[in-house]
Amino acid sequence: MAVQTEESDCAREQTKAEQDVDQVRQRATRDQQRLDSGAVTSPKDLENLQREIVSLAKRQGDLEDIVLEVMERRESAQERTAELTERVGSVQGRIDDATARRDAAYETLDADEATAEKEREVVSATIPADLLKLYDKLRQQQGGIGAAKLYQRTCQGCRQELAITDFNEVRAAAPDTVVRCENCRRILVRTSDSGL
Ligand SMILES: [Zn+2]
Repeated sequence: MAVQTEESDCAREQTKAEQDVDQVRQRATRDQQRLDSGAVTSPKDLENLQREIVSLAKRQGDLEDIVLEVMERRESAQERTAELTERVGSVQGRIDDATARRDAAYETLDADEATAEKEREVVSATIPADLLKLYDKLRQQQGGIGAAKLYQRTCQGCRQELAITDFNEVRAAAPDTVVRCENCRRILVRTSDSGL
């Protein structure tokens, strides 16, 4: 935007400088016509007129230099605008691409979530109501994880190894007893890797 503003400022400046050149040129033409017409006869007036024509020519030259200088600045602003516009386009392309990939990832996540919800419904229907209630309560208290695997004597919820007495109690518990981690209180899920 800054470069675009610079470009339009230059355009205005150029128009103004060109108008100045025109004015000086017209005045010089008028002076020259008066000189050529022979209407001015007094030597002093003639001298003044000639001096003015010379001074106007010099002024026109100076103004034309300004026009050229402004045109150069304008051209470089135009080039920069084109270059930046291209870069904006390329960045926008990357944004669009990332957005499309993000949206696709959202869709996958939504689908995965729906599948997991369905699976959860099926599983939770087979679990006794009081156990499910305990599980949900623990899940809320423990950052979304209400039950953890007991893996090689270690609770995978809090990563603490069970104290020997607690471990012995778990080992002695009947298979359908709900056992808990003494450290984080999560329900412990016993498997063949539990080290029991
Ligand atoms: Zn634990």
